[in-house]
Amino acid sequence: MSFAVNPPPAVRSFPFSRSPIGRTPRVSMVVRSGAGVPIATAAALPILTKLQNDCATPLPVLRHVADAMATDMRAGLAVDGGSDLKMILSYVDSLPTGNERGLFYALDLGGTNFRVLRTQLGGKDDRVIATECDQVSIPQDLMFGTSEELFDFIASALAKFAQKEGGKFVLPDGRSRETGFTFSFPVKQTSIDSGILIKWTKGFAVSGTPGKDVVACLNEAMKRQGLDMRVSALVNDTVATLAGARYWDNDVMVAVILGTGTNACYVESVDAIPKLNGQKTTSGRTIVNTEWGAFSNGLPLTEFDREMDAESINPGEQLFEKTISGMYLGEIVRRILVRMAESGSLFGKHVPERLRTPFTLGTPNISSMQQDTSEDLEAVGSILYEATGVDSNLDARKMVVEVCDTIAKRGGRLAGAGIVGILQKMEEDSKGIVFRKRTVVAMDGGLYEHHPQYRRYLKDAVTELLGPELSNNVVIEHSKDGSGIGAALLAATNSIYEH
Ligand code: ADP
Ligand code: MG
Repeated sequence: MSFAVNPPPAVRSFPFSRSPIGRTPRVSMVVRSGAGVPIATAAALPILTKLQNDCATPLPVLRHVADAMATDMRAGLAVDGGSDLKMILSYVDSLPTGNERGLFYALDLGGTNFRVLRTQLGGKDDRVIATECDQVSIPQDLMFGTSEELFDFIASALAKFAQKEGGKFVLPDGRSRETGFTFSFPVKQTSIDSGILIKWTKGFAVSGTPGKDVVACLNEAMKRQGLDMRVSALVNDTVATLAGARYWDNDVMVAVILGTGTNACYVESVDAIPKLNGQKTTSGRTIVNTEWGAFSNGLPLTEFDREMDAESINPGEQLFEKTISGMYLGEIVRRILVRMAESGSLFGKHVPERLRTPFTLGTPNISSMQQDTSEDLEAVGSILYEATGVDSNLDARKMVVEVCDTIAKRGGRLAGAGIVGILQKMEEDSKGIVFRKRTVVAMDGGLYEHHPQYRRYLKDAVTELLGPELSNNVVIEHSKDGSGIGAALLAATNSIYEH
């Protein structure tokens, strides 16, 4: 059985001595200007200075973002289409309690990988008896193929996984398997087990799905594969993360994903949702999926962001996501480095084609370069060479690290401001609900998990905005892979069988 494994940070994974002969990064000759600053780096310096100004997130900018997030949330709750934020109703009205029992599956489609999981739940005493999971990467061509091709691929992976069920996993006679379906793209939910895809994001452009019920697409594909399983809960990854974290901790009120893309959800009172037109839930609460990736108000954007956006498959959309999430941070840095290479000769006269190729520099590369504490920034040099083909001297590497830090800092701090916006909105509507007691924000996603500087910038921004006293009550906690178990738990709470 394989398990979800994120690649460890690549720090020092390309030591010079292990590079094949002839491919060893060369440290170029440095010509110094009168002031002692190398000429190449000196020419790139104004670009860095302007970048740092354009990306700055002082307290007033953070405050504006937090306030605008709260305002946009309200507008989206008032009426569909009322704001950049869709504020989608999740139909998850009751969260796991710990009493869930039985065998449940979960599948997660949300980005680069597709995950399947099964869990045997044993109620309050035994909790999670056993869990198994598997991960399959999605072939690039399926991201641009047809709806049937994609869903057939998913259903066949799921069928293979279900065939290996055994041991502690027991399905009572006469029952169909039930699964939670975590689908991390904007969906207009029509019930807990149906939802229409609004649009693909995060680089997916599968034809034929927008406008269709994704549960029906999956159910049909499972039937074609001869798999006896039904989807009992369609959930977003943030909603699943919230449910998974809440199973262990009653104070979880918000969940945020920072991975390939980004999104956030929270527990809302039904009275604060005018677009529900007075519909009630038994708990009086429901989880709202903000789709905050579409937020755009007052973001400190640069020409590099605008160019990347213009060339993206969804220009003008998902601007918050494009500023703070893992799919884009490396690409923004690459674009800045191209400019520094072209007009500042940062890497000498020649600009390798690979540096000019979109998405050659990934966010994991950015994170790894920021972890390099060696005197000559050896890992930075190796990563740059391996990923983009550039030769760099020490001064160029220092410049590159500055660029990485600028983009990671802006992303982390804006994400923090977004979180405060949500907390602020909740608190303004029901005084004391978040700031006068312990409140947990469950975080997940590869970017949050593997990028320590980003994480620190995020937390710093939250503390700066809330002040020391209030921020003491706000716990920002990593809920690792909570979404898998969360989706299975929501399949359990929404099971068609007695529970
Ligand atoms: P997904 O969002 O695709 O469901 P994950 O939550 O695992 O999957 O996030 C994967 C994303 O996390 C990658 O696309 C990448 O942007 C980011 N990531 C992965 N590893 C690192 C790392 N070491 N440093 C920074 N970001 C990373
Ligand atoms: Mg994910």
